[in-house]
Amino acid sequence: MKERLEQPVYVTRPSMPEYEEYIRQIKPLWESRILTNMASYHQQLEQELCRYLQTESLSLMTNGHMALELALQSLGLSGEVLTTPFTFVSTTHAITRNNLTPVFCDIDPRDFTIDAAKLEAKISKKTCAIVPVHVYGRICQVEEIEEIARKHHLKVIYDAAHTFGVTYKGIPAAQYGDLSVLSFHATKVFSTIEGGAVVYHEPEIGRELYSLKNFGIRSEEMIDGVGANAKMDELRAIMGLCNLQNIDYEIAKRKVVFETYMEQLDEIKGLTLPFVQEQVRSNYAYFPVLFDPDILDVNRDTVYEELQKRNVYTRKYFYPLINDMDCYRTVYSSKETPVAGKVARSVLTLPIYADLDLETVSYICDAIKEIIKRGKKA
Ligand SMILES: *Cc1c(COP(=O)(O)O)cnc(C)c1O
Repeated sequence: MKERLEQPVYVTRPSMPEYEEYIRQIKPLWESRILTNMASYHQQLEQELCRYLQTESLSLMTNGHMALELALQSLGLSGEVLTTPFTFVSTTHAITRNNLTPVFCDIDPRDFTIDAAKLEAKISKKTCAIVPVHVYGRICQVEEIEEIARKHHLKVIYDAAHTFGVTYKGIPAAQYGDLSVLSFHATKVFSTIEGGAVVYHEPEIGRELYSLKNFGIRSEEMIDGVGANAKMDELRAIMGLCNLQNIDYEIAKRKVVFETYMEQLDEIKGLTLPFVQEQVRSNYAYFPVLFDPDILDVNRDTVYEELQKRNVYTRKYFYPLINDMDCYRTVYSSKETPVAGKVARSVLTLPIYADLDLETVSYICDAIKEIIKRGKKA
């Protein structure tokens, strides 16, 4: 076995169209000089995304984080928001930056999405919304969450940043909730380099989102909202149009990588492998593995470091927990979410992307087996 890979392998690698194809597509911009402000490619991408996601309406944004912030703002919320600590920090920051108060609910021990059975105990008179995350593209307990939300008159805004291409019972994940927020960051399954969108269902919310992403400008002489700037430009919209052409093929290639990992890491005691939920079509966005410190002679951090020595860069998604981060730990405690705490301490996401060759996957699997076998001596 090679001591280390010659080229570094990172946890992900962005998909891109053929260079010539992108250049051909952006050429008209040198004539038109219309580069941004909801122009024709922006409109075309919105339409094509609506078709792909089988939704009536969606608002493109400059990135997923601003999409989340403006989605929350568009609903005019105030008070407490139930959410998960097992996510990317953007989810919680979007809540906090709207002057809302995050209230953390623990996660389900199997799929790591917010535990719907624990939600009601966290509801107070001030609760106005739930922001669950379809973490790793795993669908939350959407039916239970909807029922709780209806009973207590709460809005549901899904952070669907990981779910592009995922369907549940044949319905695209972004259809669930009052609003659903997507990220098209370069590291996500579908990318516009930087970008995101809000899937919405009411025209009034659409108008509000449009205004909020464009400084609150209603018309040239009428500015009736205190908006931000979260517009997507034409070059990124074209990147999205190109990438959307290949998306199903890209997901199919990810599936092969995912299945190769599953075969080669099968039946190792102390490892918990990912899985595809029932009635879900996955996008194979992540490959999270749990390393159980009670069974193995090595812990997650050792595996992480040992793989780095071999030029394999995994990520501890999601560690630390949000309620353990310096900017939140003064107010919150991760002891309140013990299931999330345990997962965060033992999870490692392995490299997965469409062009990851299967030889490299085998190398990574063999390296993990070797590291585990050597145990503490590593
Ligand atoms: C990527 C991500 C975001 C933020 O999206 P950006 O496009 O990077 O701003 C939000 N939430 C989750 C769970 C994410 O993974």
